[in-house]
Amino acid sequence: MKKAILTIFAGPMYSGKTTKLIKLAEVLEAKGQKVLTVKPAIDTRYSKKPVLASHDLKTVKAAFVDMNKPEELLKMAEKDHINHIIIDELNFFHKTKTIPVIKKLLQKGVGMTGAGLAYDYRKKPFGPTLKLGKMAKHLIWLYAICQKCGGPAQHTERVGGGTGQVVVGASEMYIASCSKCHRVYRG
Ligand SMILES: [Zn+2]
Repeated sequence: MKKAILTIFAGPMYSGKTTKLIKLAEVLEAKGQKVLTVKPAIDTRYSKKPVLASHDLKTVKAAFVDMNKPEELLKMAEKDHINHIIIDELNFFHKTKTIPVIKKLLQKGVGMTGAGLAYDYRKKPFGPTLKLGKMAKHLIWLYAICQKCGGPAQHTERVGGGTGQVVVGASEMYIASCSKCHRVYRG
């Protein structure tokens, strides 16, 4: 079987990652591919139902996967004869468990596309995004707009909500900022 291709979109919040994934799901489905779109069970910011929702509230149906049990993807792909898996919020998935699962799926010929934050609000690598980006055939960096100076932003800056790495929130807790304007939130 031909090994499939891995594509990773990496960037801060508000850089349009989910919008890209929604578009990709639409295009692949229009081509007749069986697409499985998933997100970590942690993220219910925009909807309690499992959908992929961008900040502009476009949606596509998705399934929740336990971020500590990425191996569920293997079963899901086999059961529904999936050609392509799209993963949003890749950064929340377990770093070491997720990489071998993705490798296995690629070997089985399942195309994989993931999007996630490369860095957390302290500018530290976040989950498996960067490692997978290095393995990927296509690593696409997306930029947001710095909310302080208006320049291209590659970072997510926390402005509220405590100091844990995994705190799910939207604009009340996070802004996009460039590396010059970025400040580490201290609570
Ligand atoms: Zn700036």
